[in-house]
Amino acid sequence: MARLRLATLWLGGCSGCHMSFLDLDEFLIDIADKVDVVYSPVVDAKEYPDNVDVALVEGAVANEEHLEMLHHLRSRTKTVVSFGDCAVTGNVTAIRNMLGGAEVVLNRVYLENGDQFSQVPEGDGIVPKLVDRVTPVHSIIHVDVYLPGCPPPAPRIKEVLVAVLEGRDPTLHGENIRFG
Ligand code: SF4
Repeated sequence: MARLRLATLWLGGCSGCHMSFLDLDEFLIDIADKVDVVYSPVVDAKEYPDNVDVALVEGAVANEEHLEMLHHLRSRTKTVVSFGDCAVTGNVTAIRNMLGGAEVVLNRVYLENGDQFSQVPEGDGIVPKLVDRVTPVHSIIHVDVYLPGCPPPAPRIKEVLVAVLEGRDPTLHGENIRFG
C-alpha cells in the first residue's frame, strides 16, 4: 500500500497548531511506516512537492507570500485541511483588521514606536508585503476539511489523520468542531 504523503504549512499563526501536532507523541511513531512528511516546518524540504495527499494549513492569510503559497499548495494537494482557528476564522492574526489595516499597524509598530532610525522593513523577495486585510484560508482556496481549535487538541488531529489513513471521510462533527 502506498504511503500517505502528508504536508503541513505555516502561514500567519503562532505555530501552536504545529506544537499540538507534535503532541500526537507516540501516535507519530505508530504511523511512521504509513506516512511520509513531504513538506513541513519540521522537515527540511525547500519546495512544496507534487502529489501531496493531505496538507494541514496552520494560520491565516496575512501577506502576499501566503497567497502565492496557498495557490501552489492547492494545485498539488488532494485534501486541504484548514488547521486551527486562525486558518478557519482568522482568529488572533485577524485582530489587526480591527486596527485599520496593514499600513496603520506597520506605522504604529515601526515608526511611532521606533527609535531615531525607525523605518518600516521592506525588501523585494526578502520581506513579504502584508495584505491589507487578514483572511481565513477558505476565502482564498477551496478547503476540504475544517479542523478548529486554538490549538486543535492532539486527539482531534488524530481523528482526521486516522480517517484519511483508513480511507474514510475526515469531516469532523460534534465536540470536534468547537472553536477555542
Ligand atoms: Fe496559534 Fe491558536 Fe492560531 Fe493555532 S489557532 S496558530 S494555536 S493562535
